[in-house]
Amino acid sequence: MKSYQSIQILPEHVTRKIAAGEVIDRPSSIVKELMENSIDAHATKIEVFVTNGGMSNIIVQDNGIGISQQDIPLTIEKNATSKITSDEDLTKLDTFGFRGEALSSISAVSKFQLQTKRKEDNEGSILKVDGEGNPVIEPTGIKDGTRIQISNLFFNTPARKKFLRSKTTEFGHIEKTFKKIALAHPEISFSLYKDEAVSFQLPAVATDIERIKQLYPTSMTDSLTPLSIERNGINIHGFVSNSQASFSGTQEIWLFINRRWITDRALQKAVLEGYRTALMEHRYPMAFVYIDMPPDEFDVNVHPTKSEVRFEKPQDLFKLLAQGIATGLRKEPARHFVPSSNTPTFNRSTTFGFAQSYSPYPMQKSSWVAPAQEAQTTYGSNGFFTQLECLGSLDHTYILCRSEDSLFIIDQHAAHERVLFDQFKKSFENKKASQQNLLIPITLQLSPAQFECVKTQQNLLKEIGFDLDEFGDNAWILRSIPSGMKEKHAQQILLDFIDDALNEIKSKTFSDHQDHVLSTMACHAAVRAHDVLNGDEIRHLLIRMDEVDLSSYCPHGRPTFLKLTIENLEILFKRV
Ligand code: ADP
Ligand code: MG
Repeated sequence: MKSYQSIQILPEHVTRKIAAGEVIDRPSSIVKELMENSIDAHATKIEVFVTNGGMSNIIVQDNGIGISQQDIPLTIEKNATSKITSDEDLTKLDTFGFRGEALSSISAVSKFQLQTKRKEDNEGSILKVDGEGNPVIEPTGIKDGTRIQISNLFFNTPARKKFLRSKTTEFGHIEKTFKKIALAHPEISFSLYKDEAVSFQLPAVATDIERIKQLYPTSMTDSLTPLSIERNGINIHGFVSNSQASFSGTQEIWLFINRRWITDRALQKAVLEGYRTALMEHRYPMAFVYIDMPPDEFDVNVHPTKSEVRFEKPQDLFKLLAQGIATGLRKEPARHFVPSSNTPTFNRSTTFGFAQSYSPYPMQKSSWVAPAQEAQTTYGSNGFFTQLECLGSLDHTYILCRSEDSLFIIDQHAAHERVLFDQFKKSFENKKASQQNLLIPITLQLSPAQFECVKTQQNLLKEIGFDLDEFGDNAWILRSIPSGMKEKHAQQILLDFIDDALNEIKSKTFSDHQDHVLSTMACHAAVRAHDVLNGDEIRHLLIRMDEVDLSSYCPHGRPTFLKLTIENLEILFKRV
């Protein structure tokens, strides 16, 4: 057992290092804190320079109000802030900072320099801290505003340094942070420089949509429709993509409360709830949601980085947002839901009493058979599906079939996706990475982080069938795509692949990546829920289901069909 010494108050240079662990976990958190300080200082122009993913150097320079000479030494003191004076101020915050710990923490784990000059001062000052807490202040020449330079991050906290990732990953985080802040403040001019090259240069603009358009290509912003709701002092406005555009994850859902970027699972769910069936399974929208509400109705002080909030009435906000999005999307021209003459259809409103949610009885576990769990799978061979009698379709999503003693409910999207996935996989395995050249190569204008990512993944992409060449500033030119892939889907699939790789949500093995690309291809090419299929198309799908080895699960792991036997019905109707 370790023997403990008597209780001691920790020296300040130790407590500051501990606090730094909470606020500063990687270069992007420094960029966030410094940019927010510049905004609090009423800057109208903020420039960010980073080298080596921020690990060697970060500079944030603003034209804000500056710091008085007497306050300069206080900036790096613990709990030193000019933004609040009492706990009451916490309920009416209109600044980003208020805890007074960012600069103190940052200067404890880096080589720190602060230069500043107020308009009313004749000369500027420079404060240097060497990480051991020995500040030196000297006069210096600098224009009005503040410039903070951080170098050698974590030089004295090796454990934390070990957790830093590659330069590309760290820059990816910085780019995301920069975008969060830039999206929240169109009225401020921002620039981001990476290893001395310009990554973003965003002059001040008057509206949110103009800022969004500075950051995204028109091919993406064209899909945005406006969102606007106001109720009980809560104002929500923004832009959400229609069902034509989608992403592989939630990375393009941006939430802001009173111009502060936040992460909130419930609100993110509210956005998705608003879409409900407007998007395919596993596809996510692009959304920029700006919420304005009285500051005393939520608390930002729940987490040191202030990106998580707690709401007084979370349910109200959730409903308001979900409904607002659903209403906005309904205004889009209808594309699906056209009744077909060939197939009998049961609408959602029709009580068709066996769907799980309609059942008046609690479901017994054995009632539904997820077919792949059955011991001997005989589906997908011997013309099994071809022999079924098709009864119709429900909500243009589920195909209803029956055999002599069972009812089958087939998810048309999942089934088609499974069939296509199998087909794509076979053709890949037979003639690995067969490609088709594009008649007109596609130029991909990417963000700096995406650009770097393609560089590191270029060989892998080539093996899958994507041939890419560098094409100037943050652009790649796509010359060929995997054969079998539709040209119109290629760009989307590639962008999804890049985002997944950037977010490191997929493991890095070749076959994982290959399967992911193939399943994304299949997902894009498959018929969707609510697409109207005629009798011939349904029959064709059943035939194709018989051609694949394992037709019971879609590549995303959802079942492709459910089976309800007479025995199951008897249990449900309490006959046994
Ligand atoms: P907080 O932002 O929570 O007050 P910080 O440690 O981030 O704490 O900053 C400490 C203080 O330093 C701020 O309250 C502010 O007075 C001053 N300061 C920091 N950065 C700037 C800047 N860019 N321009 C003017 N003042 C600044
Ligand atoms: Mg601050």
